[in-house]
Amino acid sequence: MARALKVCTGLPGKRCVELTASGRCPTCTAEAEQLRGTASQRGYGSRHRRSFRQAVLEKNPTCVLCGAEATVADHYPLSRRELVLKRLNPNDPQHGRGLCASCHGSQTSQHQPGGFNRR
Ligand SMILES: [Zn+2]
Ligand SMILES: [Zn+2]
Repeated sequence: MARALKVCTGLPGKRCVELTASGRCPTCTAEAEQLRGTASQRGYGSRHRRSFRQAVLEKNPTCVLCGAEATVADHYPLSRRELVLKRLNPNDPQHGRGLCASCHGSQTSQHQPGGFNRR
């Protein structure tokens, strides 16, 4: 005895005609999750990046490696992208450390050979 299937509730701005037992069909569920992820990443982007940086520099006012004045909030030990992949909040200052510009430069090249966002 099959449960009555309902039409998928779809997504904001998207109608879907899949039949599903509850709420959204798997496709729309996955899309909704993706949308939520990118929307919040995008929506908070610059504002949160600034507050992440501020919070990290408050926590580490001096470079954790050489003791010079910290000017860069570095994601450590996981890169921002790794945090996102693990569904951790990359804007949480506990994932960051303060570095001076020159240490950040050398750390970044070790961390990500070939530069940012290669791949
Ligand atoms: Zn659907
Ligand atoms: Zn340094």
